[in-house]
Amino acid sequence: MPEEPPLLDSDSDKLSAIPPAWSGNVSTRRRERQLTGIPSSPGIVTGTAVIIERERSLRKSRRLEADEIPDELHRFEKALQKCSRELMEIIESAPKDSPAIGHILEAQLMILNDRSAIAGIRRNIEDGMSAEGAVSKVYDAQENNLRMARDEILRERAVDLENVKQRLLAYLRNKRLKHELPANSILIAPSLTPSQVMLFHEESMLGFVTEMSGIASHTSIMARSIHVPSVIGIKHLFKNVHAGDKIIVDGFAGILVVNPRPETLLKYQRRIGDLETKRKKLLKFAKLPTETSDGAKIKLYANADSLEDVDASLAYGAQGIGLVRTETMVFRGGEGIPSESEQRKWYTQLAERAYPLPVTIRAFDLGGDKWIDGLAPESNPALGVRGLRYLLQQRKVFRDQIKAVLRASTHRNVRFMLPMVTGLEDFQRALGIIEKCKASLRKSGISFDQKMPIGAMIETPSAALLADQLAGKADFLSIGTNDLTQYTLAADRINVNVASFFDSFNPAVLRLIKMVVEAGRKCDVPVGICGEFAAHAASTGVLIGLGVTDLSVAPETLLETKRRIRKTSAAHARSISQELLQLSEGSEIRKRIRAIRKK
Ligand code: PEP
Ligand code: MG
Repeated sequence: MPEEPPLLDSDSDKLSAIPPAWSGNVSTRRRERQLTGIPSSPGIVTGTAVIIERERSLRKSRRLEADEIPDELHRFEKALQKCSRELMEIIESAPKDSPAIGHILEAQLMILNDRSAIAGIRRNIEDGMSAEGAVSKVYDAQENNLRMARDEILRERAVDLENVKQRLLAYLRNKRLKHELPANSILIAPSLTPSQVMLFHEESMLGFVTEMSGIASHTSIMARSIHVPSVIGIKHLFKNVHAGDKIIVDGFAGILVVNPRPETLLKYQRRIGDLETKRKKLLKFAKLPTETSDGAKIKLYANADSLEDVDASLAYGAQGIGLVRTETMVFRGGEGIPSESEQRKWYTQLAERAYPLPVTIRAFDLGGDKWIDGLAPESNPALGVRGLRYLLQQRKVFRDQIKAVLRASTHRNVRFMLPMVTGLEDFQRALGIIEKCKASLRKSGISFDQKMPIGAMIETPSAALLADQLAGKADFLSIGTNDLTQYTLAADRINVNVASFFDSFNPAVLRLIKMVVEAGRKCDVPVGICGEFAAHAASTGVLIGLGVTDLSVAPETLLETKRRIRKTSAAHARSISQELLQLSEGSEIRKRIRAIRKK
C-alpha cells in the first residue's frame, strides 16, 4: 500500500523518549542526513547504528588471528552437530506416506556429514577463514562442479548441497549476530528475517532499518507486534550510515536521520509529546460501541501475539482476539517448535486472559518468509511448503499443536484457524486430522470443547474463488489480505522492488473480498479480515461497503480504527463500493476515496 501505509497516522503506545544524556551529545563532526524509506513499524527511537554485514562481506571478512581459531572451529562443530540433529529429527517425523521426502532429507544428512567436506572446512578455518566463509567456499566449489555435470541426478544434487549450506549458514549467522549486539543498538541491515528480529529484540535492539523487505512482510508485522520501530526500503543505506553513527528512526514517517542536529532532536522530542497527547485523546473511544454513524454493528478484534497484547487489546475495547500468530512462539523460544505442553500452557493463558471473549489461535504458519531451522530452504518459498502444506507434511507438529489448542479450549472461547488453505481438499484433510486428535483426547479422558470452531484463512486466490465451498465446511472464514494481495497480484510481500504492485486497494483484491463476504453470508458463516489492510487509514469505508462486519487489527491501531468506523456511514459506504469496484487501478480507488473524504 504505497501511498498511505497502514500505521502512518496511528499512535504507538510505547514511544521511546530521547534519552537526555544522549541529546546533549550530538556529533558535530559529521553532517546531518535524512533518508526516506517506507514506515514499517511505528514509534520513534534514537540510538547508535550497528551495521549487520551482508553475507558477502561475512565471507570476505578479515582473517582470524591465531588465538581466535579454536573458538571458530568450535562454533562450526556446534553448528554441524545442531544441523545434523535437526535433520535426523525431521527425518523421523517426516510423513511415512511420502518416502520421497525422507530420501531427500537422508541425502542432505549424508552431504552434511561428508568427511572430506568437513575436513576442507576445518582446514579453511585453520588457515584463518571465518566459519561462514569456510562453509561457503567448500560448498560453492562442490556446487559449481555439480551444476556443470551432464548427469541430471548430479545436477539435482547441487540443490541439496545449497540447502545444506544455507542450513549451516543460518545457524552460524544467528549465533554470530546474537553475541555482537551492544546496548542502544539500532540495526542497519540489508534485510532481517522474523526470527532475527525476535533474536535481536531479546538482545534489546531499539529499532531497525533495512534496505529490503515489504510493509506486509512478516518482518514488519513482527516489528509492529513487539513494538520495535522500523523503517524499510532505504536505498544506498550502507553508503550513508556507518557503525557508531547516532541516528533517529521515525517509524511513523519512514525517516532515518543520521547524525541529527540539536534542532532536529528538539523537533522529534516535540513530536513524541504530540503523539502522546493524541494517544490520550483516543483513549475515550475504548468504551464507545463499535458501530457506524448509522448504527451498523461491527465486530472489532485484535491481532495479539503475547499476553501483554491481549491485556492492551481488552483495555482498548477489543471484542476478542481475531488472530494469534502462533509461530511467534517458535521465534521467541529460538529452540525450534515448542512441545505440546509448552504450547498448551501458552494457549490456555491466552484463553484465560481473554475470557469470556473469543481467542482465535492460528495453526503455525511456517515457511515462506517465516523460515526456521529445520525447514528445507526453497527457491520460491512463498509458493512452497508453507502454512497448512507444511503442517500436512509434518504430522507430529500438527497433531501436537491441535491437541494443545483443544486442551486450552475448555472454557469454550477458543477458535482454531488454518493458514494458507488453497481449497476444500487440504482443508478437509486438516479437519480429518483434527477429528483424530479429538478422538485420541476423548480416549484419554481429556476434556476439551467438542464444538471448537474451525476456520479457514482466505489468503490465496483459489481459496477466495472457492469460498462458497469452504464456507460449507468451515465455522468461519478469515481473509488474510497480506497474502491474498501478494498471491493475487503476484507481488512478493517482502520485496521492496515490487512494493508498488502490492496494493490491497487493487480492484482484483477488492472483488475477491466481496466474493468471500457474499459466500459467507449465503452460508451464514462469519467472515473477518485480519490482514494489515483492516487497519489501513483509507480502508474502513471500503470494507464496510463491501459488507465486511468483522475486523481484526494490531492492538495499537484499535482505537484509531474504531474512531474511523464510528465516522463511517454504512449506507453511504455500500453505495460507493459498487462504483469503486468498477475502477481499474488501486491508485484510482485511493484517489476516489480521498475525493469523497474531502466532500
Ligand atoms: C495475512 O496474510 O493477511 C495474515 C493475516 O497472515 P500473515 O500476515 O501472518 O501471513
Ligand atoms: Mg498470511
